Amino acid sequence: MDLKEIENIVKKKIEAARDAAGLEAVRIEFLGRKGTMTGLFSELAEMKGEERKKAGQELNTLKQYIMTALQQHVKELEGVALGKLAEQEKLDVTLPGTRPPLGHLHITTQAIEEITRIFAQLGFYRMRYPEVDWDYYAFEALNMPKGHPARDEWETYFVGRGTTRNVSLEHIAEQRGNYIEHPKFGKMVLTPHTSNGQVREMERRKPPIRMINLAKCYRRQSDVSHVPMFHQFEGLLIDRNVAVTHLKGTLEYFARVFFGPERRIRLRPFHFRFTEPSFEVDVSCGVCHGTGYVHNPSQPPLTLRGGEKCRLCKSGWLELAGAGMVHPNVLKAGGLDPKVWSGFAFGFGVERSYMMKQGLRIDDIRVLYNNDLNFLEQF
Ligand SMILES: [Zn+2]
Repeated sequence: MDLKEIENIVKKKIEAARDAAGLEAVRIEFLGRKGTMTGLFSELAEMKGEERKKAGQELNTLKQYIMTALQQHVKELEGVALGKLAEQEKLDVTLPGTRPPLGHLHITTQAIEEITRIFAQLGFYRMRYPEVDWDYYAFEALNMPKGHPARDEWETYFVGRGTTRNVSLEHIAEQRGNYIEHPKFGKMVLTPHTSNGQVREMERRKPPIRMINLAKCYRRQSDVSHVPMFHQFEGLLIDRNVAVTHLKGTLEYFARVFFGPERRIRLRPFHFRFTEPSFEVDVSCGVCHGTGYVHNPSQPPLTLRGGEKCRLCKSGWLELAGAGMVHPNVLKAGGLDPKVWSGFAFGFGVERSYMMKQGLRIDDIRVLYNNDLNFLEQF
């Protein structure tokens, strides 16, 4: 066969090869042990002298050509592959980015931040006290000695010794009574209110004290209006000559900033063990503006006051918080002389306050912690 013709065939086959495997096939066909070139070289043995020398040179030239062509084409293929890759991974920095979906803070967290901000304007600093604390700070130091019936109002969780997975009811019964107990401070509890921060703060620093303690609380209750874990914020102010008017002014300031400038505060006498006198704090309803009645223009007045009964409140007011002047026994427990120091304290439910701010009467408060985005995304 004419060597020039072989050269052309090789050339075409190499150009047609699309990848490394294709090139290898060409190499085997021409340069392999049983390949075309090997066959041609073996024919040299039958030649002599000048003819053999000339044919040998021509064959070597062709062999060299094939090897070089193969190598070159390998490089070309690599170049094409890299080019494709570059094309695929091309980054156009002028294109607008894909915005990741942006969430928002949970409504409880939003409320906590807002409450903290409002009280900061009045000079209250925020503290966090243990959410697992001793009976002493949760009850005894707050003028509720052991065995006092007032303790029953807080359906308290006590912390037991040792926990087992797959706890059965029988097991719980066995464990009952096996509580962690401190010789001086009593049993360990999940704090049923944030008031445990009061005496702790008095122990930490001398007055004047203006703190809010904002934390999780736990009570053994779960129904449409209660969740076993909820948030409270506790305010404590201790100074010389503190009066009920200071308490009322502070709460009114909070209510106006948090709920709206037209809202008012009402104190109703109540009884708590750790304050004297004690009050329940109401805020005027934002729907009926404290009247208890909503005027509906499409219907004739149904009552003498001219309107329908407000669905949100009871007679114009919403229960907001518990408050009072710090009981002398609590001041003493905190190492303060009640003849010198006086103060007030108040406690709000965070979730409840937030729902009232929104003018919402939620049928089931547990929806706050069900992680239902359809609900949470509305706030
Ligand atoms: Zn109302």
